[in-house]
Amino acid sequence: MNVKVVKFGGSSLADADHFRMVADIIKSDPSRRYVVPSAPGKRFKDDIKVTDMLYECYRLVREHAASEVVDTCYNAIVDRFNGIIKDLGLNFDITGELEYVKQAILCRAGRDYAASRGEYLNGLILAKYLGYDFIDAENVIFFAENGTFDAERTHEVLSAELSRHEHAVIPGFYGIMPNGTIKTFSRGGSDITGSIVARAAEADLYENWTDVSGFMMADPRVIGDTCPIKTITYRELRELSYMGATVLHEDAIFPVRNAGIPINIRNTNKPEDEGTMIVASAPDYDSRHIITGIAGKKGFSVVTIEHDMMNSEIGFGRRVLEVFEDFGISFEHLPSGIDTMSVIISTSELDPHRERVLTALKRSLRPDSITIEDGLALLAVVGRGMVKAKGTAARVFKAVSDAGVNIRMIDQGSCELNIILGVDEHDFETTMKAIYNEFVK
Ligand code: ASP
Repeated sequence: MNVKVVKFGGSSLADADHFRMVADIIKSDPSRRYVVPSAPGKRFKDDIKVTDMLYECYRLVREHAASEVVDTCYNAIVDRFNGIIKDLGLNFDITGELEYVKQAILCRAGRDYAASRGEYLNGLILAKYLGYDFIDAENVIFFAENGTFDAERTHEVLSAELSRHEHAVIPGFYGIMPNGTIKTFSRGGSDITGSIVARAAEADLYENWTDVSGFMMADPRVIGDTCPIKTITYRELRELSYMGATVLHEDAIFPVRNAGIPINIRNTNKPEDEGTMIVASAPDYDSRHIITGIAGKKGFSVVTIEHDMMNSEIGFGRRVLEVFEDFGISFEHLPSGIDTMSVIISTSELDPHRERVLTALKRSLRPDSITIEDGLALLAVVGRGMVKAKGTAARVFKAVSDAGVNIRMIDQGSCELNIILGVDEHDFETTMKAIYNEFVK
């Protein structure tokens, strides 16, 4: 029988109505055997996620806030969980668990411990509601001494554990350190847990249920109503997600990608929508569009270094990058000419070290000139169809130039999967619209 691992995000489990929708989805397909829940998310725009409420309680305790203040904060969490249980009409008393968690937070069990309890408690409720077994992530998801995820140990223990359960709920977001303390992934990390569980279950599919019907071809805040992406490869998604797509945690693709398990992004509020399929490779592409998507981000700086005979000076590039490495700054792109080299970095990473970076570059390279320009936006036009279609670059540049935008930087990987453009920040929206209209409309 097929096995599907299904992960539900916070907005999909924000209240009892959503719990019912989630249960309908799970029960409508017997292969949906393993379920990974997030903590309850926002029910309305200005609502607070349970994870954020837990972080706040932890902060209040650490800062020695008055006990009534801590109580008020924690009682709001108690109300969220009890509200869900009551509205579901569930015969389940979670008071002891809630009290235990409160005492542990008061005894400073740790920030990650506090945050992880949203998933833990929600997992208990969901398991009860579905009639599924509960597998605590602290027994099956392991971190190594240095805080990185221990993939091999986890895989071994988790696979063995899953094989003992026909159906189970495994809370997302956290695991355990060798010293027995709870550690979480970074925010949105239940997506990673889902992927890890899918690998261990040797699932045929990892369904990631959220509140949108998959990835859109471009940022809806810029374009308005955009077309959804039906199929995207892992590589294309990497090119797009690193530029700012927010639907899926970017580390979530690694466990399943290596195991060849596709991810399907689905919408809990519109289960009839097919969503986006993320696959290892796709033989065809949407020939109407050629491109798969456009993503972009503002807030980059360009450091340009000029030095006569740079191209014949062996080790020059290494010394440039060494300076950035010493300050812990990662670079986005590295366009270069015969005697110039530009390093494109995020302005927020550069800002704390700006003057010292300049001094170090001057000292190490003795350049003829060096300048820093801020206010750059990067846009990535991504698509496996671009590899075969001639003239795609020409269409991108013509569309941008017809929109009256000056292109400050161009970068195309030799894989021909993407074209990266650098434009002034104030041209960002115009550029995205121009490219979108050229290829999609
Ligand atoms: N609840 C956690 C967060 O809000 C993890 C998750 O939802 O994936 O970041």
